[in-house]
Amino acid sequence: MTRTIRRILLLMLAAPVLAEAQQDAELDAAIDDLVAANRILAAQGILPGYGHVSVRHPTNPDRYLVSRSIAPELVTAEDIVVLDLDSDPVEPGTPRSYLERFIHGEIYKVRPDVRAVVHNHSPTVISFGIGTTPLRPVYHQAAFFLDGIPIWDYRDFGTANGALVDTPARGAALAAALKDRPVVLMRNHGVAIAASTLPLLVGWSIALEQNAEIQSAALARGDDVTYLEFEEEAPGSDFLRAWDLWKRQLGMQ
Ligand SMILES: [Zn+2]
Repeated sequence: MTRTIRRILLLMLAAPVLAEAQQDAELDAAIDDLVAANRILAAQGILPGYGHVSVRHPTNPDRYLVSRSIAPELVTAEDIVVLDLDSDPVEPGTPRSYLERFIHGEIYKVRPDVRAVVHNHSPTVISFGIGTTPLRPVYHQAAFFLDGIPIWDYRDFGTANGALVDTPARGAALAAALKDRPVVLMRNHGVAIAASTLPLLVGWSIALEQNAEIQSAALARGDDVTYLEFEEEAPGSDFLRAWDLWKRQLGMQ
């Protein structure tokens, strides 16, 4: 056997082990990023005790990662659980995740482009789901929702069982209302945001609340507001610079 053939055989034998190690490394990185997203959104006041953020599994698109049911500020790598797209645990004995986890699973089901989802109750954003003035972009970092924000109304399911998205049917209805957009408002409740990366999702969550505050301040003055306008889709921020800063502020880098 020549040295070359021996090398090829060794590589063939090692390939599955190397592939598995690579997959494990990707999973570890996704978990670290999800922990960071939880902690950043808590520190920024977007997930203050309630709400939840998830990321699609890096090597199995039919699964996603989310925390067990605890406050986002307290989430560590050990709290992350793996759910399938019906929002059922993959492993027996998995700790219980959030009541409204169906928001995540049902959006991942119908949006293959989405790799990260958050549900939060950011207050100024909620205020635009209870009135008649639409939430519209007023500054450049809010350009991602130039196409408008649909509002999902829990009353479609009656008012007997509350406003939570705590069943697969409600999750599917919310995902249908979201359609191909990045944001859906939930009347009298909160908002769901869907993005292609966790840094983008975190950046959009913060920008959405800031936009709602700026728009509210201008409307409260009685101003004639100039809304953001782009003739064509402009390249938006990937929020990576801010993501590094937010992690460093929390001692995570
Ligand atoms: Zn909620």
